[in-house]
Amino acid sequence: MSAAALRIENLEKRYPNGVEALRGVSVEIPDGEFYGLLGPNGAGKSTLIHCTTGLAQPTGGTIEVFGHDAIHDYSKARAAVGLAPQEVNLDQFLTCEETLDFHGGYFGMGRRDRRERTRELLETFSLTPKAKDRTRALSGGMKRRLILARALMHRPRLLILDEPTAGVDIELRLELWHYVQKINAEGTTILLTTHYLEEADQLCSRIGFIAGGEIAAEGSADGLAGRYGVANLEDAYLALVGRKELSRSHIESEVV
Ligand code: ADP
Repeated sequence: MSAAALRIENLEKRYPNGVEALRGVSVEIPDGEFYGLLGPNGAGKSTLIHCTTGLAQPTGGTIEVFGHDAIHDYSKARAAVGLAPQEVNLDQFLTCEETLDFHGGYFGMGRRDRRERTRELLETFSLTPKAKDRTRALSGGMKRRLILARALMHRPRLLILDEPTAGVDIELRLELWHYVQKINAEGTTILLTTHYLEEADQLCSRIGFIAGGEIAAEGSADGLAGRYGVANLEDAYLALVGRKELSRSHIESEVV
């Protein structure tokens, strides 16, 4: 049996100021799955991603990426993970080409491989005409695409997308959905956080609801709706956050 792409057990994170951001979270994502993590602001999603990608040190629990200990033996785990962070953290003085090439170098890819992979990704993400442009000259949508290309540069088996479509227009959102579905179909495991329930519904085979640093429920969109006794994922989410009165079915019935 192959190792899970991500196995998190009893993860705890208490920040130095005393905030308990994660209170014993366990999540297992099998190889090849498209998993969504949904929860209100402050639920602990970023903390979980930061712990998984080495940006934050957990105070308890274990994290394995394809069987590699992501806390104590980070180098192997890190090579298997690609992160497209929420914030646009591109070096604005690098060109698109250099952004990808440097990232590949950081992960130990050889020169020829970097050159070919850079060309391939710029083409995939419609950035070839921008190859020699500095990232600061890109539009917001192009920056988003470059961030995704950079996350994929070293061919990670686990791709973590932290709110990849926040604030992007509908065309780019659909374009990004198309890319990530294709990447997943080709075998990459994906962990997605999003505030767009439609996005999770469309893309994810399994969804975890997180609130107050704990996983409150897990399942398919239909499974979660069934568990909360409601019609759809959005209403299940509203039940999670204690705001059932906001359900569109109420609004619609009041309007009629
Ligand atoms: P989410 O990504 O779901 O919005 P976060 O993981 O960012 O949630 O935050 C979880 C909790 O941890 C919140 O109460 C937040 O204020 C707190 N928190 C996040 N980062 C830090 C930090 N660096 N120092 C102290 N508290 C933090």
